Amino acid sequence: MAPVGDGATPSVREPPDSQNRPNILIILSNSQKAVPRPRILRVALDTPLRRLFDYRPPPDADPADLLPGRRLEVPFGRRRLIGVLIETADHSEVPDPKLRAALTLIDHEAPLDAVAFEVVRFAADYYHHPLGEALAAALPALLRAGRPLRARERRWRLAGGTPPTAPPHLGTRQKALLSALASRPSIGEEELEAAGGNTREALRGFLERGWVEAFEVEPAPPVAGEVTPAAGPVLTPDQRTAVAAIDAALGSFTPFLLNGVTGSGKTEVYLRVIASVLARGEQALVLVPEIALTPQAVQRFSARFAVPLAVLHSGLSDTERLERWRLARSGHAPIVIGTRSAVFVPLARPGVIVIDEEHDASYKQQEGFRYSARDLALFRAQRHGIPVVLGSATPALETLNNALTGRYRMLRLPLRTGAAGQPQTALVDLRMHEARHGIATPAVLAIERHLGAGGQVLLYLNRRGFAPALFCPGCGWAAPCAACDSRFTVHLKSHRLICHHCGAQAPVPFACPQCATELKPVGQGTERIEDALDEFFPGVPVVRIDRDTVRSRGEIEAALERVHGGDARILVGTQMLTKGHDFPDVTLVVVLNADQGLFGTDFRSSERLAQSIVQVAGRAGRASRPGEVLIQTACPDHPLLTRLLAGGYEDFATGALEERAAARWPPFSHLAVLRAEAADRAAAL
Ligand code: ADP
Ligand code: ZN
Ligand code: ZN
Repeated sequence: MAPVGDGATPSVREPPDSQNRPNILIILSNSQKAVPRPRILRVALDTPLRRLFDYRPPPDADPADLLPGRRLEVPFGRRRLIGVLIETADHSEVPDPKLRAALTLIDHEAPLDAVAFEVVRFAADYYHHPLGEALAAALPALLRAGRPLRARERRWRLAGGTPPTAPPHLGTRQKALLSALASRPSIGEEELEAAGGNTREALRGFLERGWVEAFEVEPAPPVAGEVTPAAGPVLTPDQRTAVAAIDAALGSFTPFLLNGVTGSGKTEVYLRVIASVLARGEQALVLVPEIALTPQAVQRFSARFAVPLAVLHSGLSDTERLERWRLARSGHAPIVIGTRSAVFVPLARPGVIVIDEEHDASYKQQEGFRYSARDLALFRAQRHGIPVVLGSATPALETLNNALTGRYRMLRLPLRTGAAGQPQTALVDLRMHEARHGIATPAVLAIERHLGAGGQVLLYLNRRGFAPALFCPGCGWAAPCAACDSRFTVHLKSHRLICHHCGAQAPVPFACPQCATELKPVGQGTERIEDALDEFFPGVPVVRIDRDTVRSRGEIEAALERVHGGDARILVGTQMLTKGHDFPDVTLVVVLNADQGLFGTDFRSSERLAQSIVQVAGRAGRASRPGEVLIQTACPDHPLLTRLLAGGYEDFATGALEERAAARWPPFSHLAVLRAEAADRAAAL
């Protein structure tokens, strides 16, 4: 797909239902006819104001060049801002004398491809967010600062094209440089680097004498050849069926749910489909929940395909981000892997979109410009006319419902590929067994047994910190957050009270501020479990993985290294442990507190609980060791738990969907949140 209004590209593949598309997408002609000069440009600027801004065209701009999607520099108050042209018009509400002229048209082509541009416009509209801010979220920071769209490379050539008549006093370096320049149209950094020595100095001299001129070009694309993927395993029959179904849909919009248990080989299915996409000369966009936490995921792609990979995530420098974004846009990177915001990355030749772990909450941007990357990816695939593959062992109920009702095509991988079968799962009734520091006796005994047999043990608790509340036994005071309605969580190691809701912090008080009684931390967080383990199993090395211990990619890699090297025997962690890592030597998983999810206030809490249990259980016993899973609960008869244990995730989900239908919750209704902020209540209301 050509960038919006790219005049150089006359033929554009017609996307489906082009009738219903907004005007901007129809201005894709390369007519050379005189274009009337638009009077008004409507520009989106990165401001919280929900409107476009009107400008007169820049005085020197070619009217034929003033097309939607391109960047403009405009005066804004006393500042200069970079905005995106959205549309042109004949009239403005702004009175003529007040109407200012845009300063410069930065681009001669739109940064986003036509569909990506449409996705951003749709998202701004659908999620009620100012378009300028939505576009700012979609464009790399350096482009918002005015950097050129395309990469530039400096090269040098003889001025005038002919070598100067051989002057007398040239050294060997200079002679070599001169003959190199004379023997080809131009030289670049590579040749300079190879020549070494004083060649740069010689070049400087030639430039000063005017023999040589410098110029900039877009770097040549890597030589496109046949991509031969490295060999993969022989597919299982279920994988074959899935790959064949998706392959057959290439070139048309078809949504698939790849519903496969953990370890069933979903990634292998993506890899095979991507091989077909590459063979068609197209690109694959792969969305993943969190790259920094799952470096192995990217390695599997690079190990299979010897092609440039554009990997986009939040840990990049601005320069790296722009470089990779350019590789995606130019098509030089046939595979683009990114976190949620990659759903807006422009693609030259889109062929498929894959959303791995589609149920993952991180696909929702929860602050600022809020959006669901999964939903937008479907919209985008539909507009491109390409298949979209949503993969998960624990599909979101909305997705599952779409597959069950036939809107998406369901592909199932019910079996694990390795020798290990599904783990044995049992409940530990917390009403019958005393739990010291949050770990009940049967769990302690099981941990002992598995450690004794040489296995590793994983304890899952979705609460970081030491304790979720600090309570006064004297008067009932319970450390309320000073900034919001929630309670503080106790973090003993850092001696802070931290609100996990709004981020507010306070020192840990020594005694109750109301009655001076000694305070008690109530409940368990991962930090407390770590302490308890030291008491139960002195000397056994424990590694804790949560947002307090692991903040960077380096830290997660170091922690995983301790686990994979067998150095750590017990892992304690939050949600983070459920994401994509494999722990082949883990033979026991203990879910410390299932009740959090059974009685959450969010209508999705039970769904999230079931997903966490299944995902964390799926991390265990992946190689050839059978796994065991224990779930601690005070409600072992809860229908959600019993159904999950007896029938598996899909059976649980079917039951949960029936409940949703009965209660008219999504996906059987729509919910919207309206937020209003004001200093006084009446104004907000
Ligand atoms: P998922 O993404 O469903 O969790 P993976 O794709 O990670 O599963 O596969 C789990 C393991 O099985 C990986 O080590 C993978 O290399 C291996 N695997 C995948 N498909 C096959 C197959 N057809 N035959 C043998 N091993 C396979
Ligand atoms: Zn008190
Ligand atoms: Zn708070």
